[in-house]
Amino acid sequence: MNNPKVLIIYTGGTIGMINDPETGALKPFDFESLYSSIPELKQFDYELDTYSVEEPIDSSDMNPKLWGGIANTIFENYADYTGFVVLHGTDTMAFTTAAMSFMLQGLKKPIIFTGSQLPIGKIRTDGKENLITAIELAGMLDMSGHSVIQEVALYFEFQLYRGNRVSKISTFNFEAFKSYNYPLLAEAGTNIRIDQNALYRPSLTELEKFTDFNTRIALIKLFPGMDMSIYDAIFDVSKVEGIILETFGNGNSFSSAAFEKMIADYMANGGIVLNITQCAQGNVVLGLYETSIHYKRLQVLSGRDITTEAAVTKMMYVLGKTRDPEERVELLSQNLCGEVTI
Ligand code: ASP
Repeated sequence: MNNPKVLIIYTGGTIGMINDPETGALKPFDFESLYSSIPELKQFDYELDTYSVEEPIDSSDMNPKLWGGIANTIFENYADYTGFVVLHGTDTMAFTTAAMSFMLQGLKKPIIFTGSQLPIGKIRTDGKENLITAIELAGMLDMSGHSVIQEVALYFEFQLYRGNRVSKISTFNFEAFKSYNYPLLAEAGTNIRIDQNALYRPSLTELEKFTDFNTRIALIKLFPGMDMSIYDAIFDVSKVEGIILETFGNGNSFSSAAFEKMIADYMANGGIVLNITQCAQGNVVLGLYETSIHYKRLQVLSGRDITTEAAVTKMMYVLGKTRDPEERVELLSQNLCGEVTI
């Protein structure tokens, strides 16, 4: 059997920064010189190739077009590699990993995203360990030569998370990510412990790519005392085709005849409304409390235990995939690629 072959894709973010020896300022790392900057990589019996996007970015500038670019790069190189590592800024990495899980369905190979809190050129960097273990995970094969991980995942600070189940939770801790509603896929200690039961196995036999996301969506975080009439313009299907409401606790919120009518009219015109919880942990259960009965009555969709990142990217994916309101509801109600517990 040939050695595993991993493609490392650099999109930007803190991880790829090193100090310019002349100016001392942080500048993007030259991936041509990966081995000279991280000589430890020579110890891998993997073949490593690198690819850098033309303009590495701070991940705050990430968008669906750039997601499409990452998906295309992976799709075009899919047959030639055992797995992929994507280096990405931490700020929006959880949106990108969720987006990638919808864009590339039916994966039989790993796409491991990672980044770091400190640049790779800093002495206390977390980037080297993150990169080295991400590469190891991307090339990991089982006894019969199949990839152990066959999904989009995010590796950070010794933990491997499902890409559409994770959120950034800290601006300064090395443990910057958390997956509250789904177990870790793997944990790295002296050896890497994989949780076989947590791994995703796609039902699709072929890799399918879909990058035509529809961004005509809105995300509204509710708060006590909110004046919903201010948001009236958003409930207009000709401008906004899907609205995600981030509600309290198990999917609860204030109700008023005017707010209910706003939602009812919007849905009657073909608008989609998805109720997700503001809580990092737990799920929406419409009708559990009286304060969510109105959503149940209106047949607003329940996001169950989905993260905000996965809800936003799933909505963009589904609204891009079909214009038919019934099909949209059907797709949003399903678990498409491990993003929600049904
Ligand atoms: N602002 C940076 C980014 O997301 C932070 C990081 O890389 O951690 O690109």
